[in-house]
Amino acid sequence: MSRLIVVSNRVQPPSGGGEGNQGGLSVALSAALREYSGLWFGWSGQTTESFTGQISIQRTEGVTTATVDIEEQDVDEYYNGFANRTLWPLFHDRIDLAEYERGFQGGYQRVNDRFADTLEPLIEPGDLVWVHDYHLIPLGQALRARGIRNRIGFFLHIPWPPRQILLSLSSHKELVEALFEYDVVGFQTAVWLESFLDYVTHEMDGVVGEDGLVTAGGRTIRAIASPIGIDGEAFAAMADGPRARAIYDRMMVSANGRAMILGVDRLDYSKGLQERFVGYERFLADRPERAGGVFLLQIAPPSREDVQSYQEIRAELEASSGRINGAFADIEWVPIRYVNKGYPRDQLAGIYRAARIGLVTPLRDGMNLVAKEYVAAQDPSDPGVLILSRFAGAALQLGAAVLVNPYSAEEISDAIDQALSMPLDERIDRWTQLMDNVMREDVMWWRRTFTDALEAPLPDAEQLSAKGETATGPKF
Ligand code: UDP
Repeated sequence: MSRLIVVSNRVQPPSGGGEGNQGGLSVALSAALREYSGLWFGWSGQTTESFTGQISIQRTEGVTTATVDIEEQDVDEYYNGFANRTLWPLFHDRIDLAEYERGFQGGYQRVNDRFADTLEPLIEPGDLVWVHDYHLIPLGQALRARGIRNRIGFFLHIPWPPRQILLSLSSHKELVEALFEYDVVGFQTAVWLESFLDYVTHEMDGVVGEDGLVTAGGRTIRAIASPIGIDGEAFAAMADGPRARAIYDRMMVSANGRAMILGVDRLDYSKGLQERFVGYERFLADRPERAGGVFLLQIAPPSREDVQSYQEIRAELEASSGRINGAFADIEWVPIRYVNKGYPRDQLAGIYRAARIGLVTPLRDGMNLVAKEYVAAQDPSDPGVLILSRFAGAALQLGAAVLVNPYSAEEISDAIDQALSMPLDERIDRWTQLMDNVMREDVMWWRRTFTDALEAPLPDAEQLSAKGETATGPKF
């Protein structure tokens, strides 16, 4: 069997501290790495004065990780710069927040080249290489330039933007050409895949063939949609476990008979927190008879605090939660509990279960695993209601949720009202459909879908031209 080499910006090996702190991605990739053997390569999270390419190898619970330190300037230009100030906002349709700096672009390419230099000697013939996310789009190309002929796949965890938005990036063409150096390129949903194909056919004279094959500039890749899932079984079991139960009991006491509405999101402008607060405020104002019977718990651990737009959203949310609480609270009730810290997943599981409503309203999200975790954590005999943004990738699989436009305060307010009055049989019916998907298209299914595609042979150029699927356009 081939070895698998996983590459991502940060490496998340098994924590050794039990399931509670290990994310779904880490669980899935660790399981894949044990099955195939191989290693997980990425940035250590540490900086060094000057880049040496020295690799630190560790083995935890059967998974080998190889990490490198990068320079302070790399962190500024590659991570905080091109990845999080240019690509992240652009790929989340926030052209207004995207910063275009030549230095960022240079740093991005430099770190990808450095990763390729460091990784290349570790790759053996026959290894499968699986690269993750927007930080590392040019890595496949950089490895090819160093003579690596192995099968290399890329999976994008965030949305792919509409063509017109991508065109605002001066290096849009180079970025997409780099994707054509992979064998397989995976997206979270058919919608993001369609946007990618739209770009390829209109901007590159590309040809879309059968079975996900796409040809442009004389190169053929397989482009697939394979939505990432969670380990539904493990998460449901965790929600029944002792740590989850303990916090569930505490939450029920502190709710004091009120229905809890729950939001759990990294503090990020793509998550629609500001709009969510405004929608909830609308509910409080429009339905005063119901308002005193609910409260919103918003868990929002800070992220990317070095980036200014993240500092701004934090300040805005502090102001609006304060304003809403000031306007509506009374001496024994506060409508919003706004918590700026993170919780381990085994505790989150109990908090999810205690919530009558899971309020998941990102403005744009590649997938959104919180929505799936909320479903998996519910009590099957008395499940809560998931309110989900139409613009989360998860909405394509979780159509039985109450779907809303996250920009509309009215729709959020109506959806809260609908969820609070939903009869038990409808709640069970919707939840059963949601849970069916969460369990079936779980993280192991996702991983298999991708590695199966990566292992499947691509037809060679002769076969393609016999079928008339080879692009005749110029080579890159
Ligand atoms: N999460 C967590 N503790 C928290 C908040 C979130 O462990 O306090 C986890 C959550 O359980 C989920 C992940 O962070 O697995 C968030 O994934 P999602 O796809 O929803 O959003 P992302 O942050 O990747 O954009």
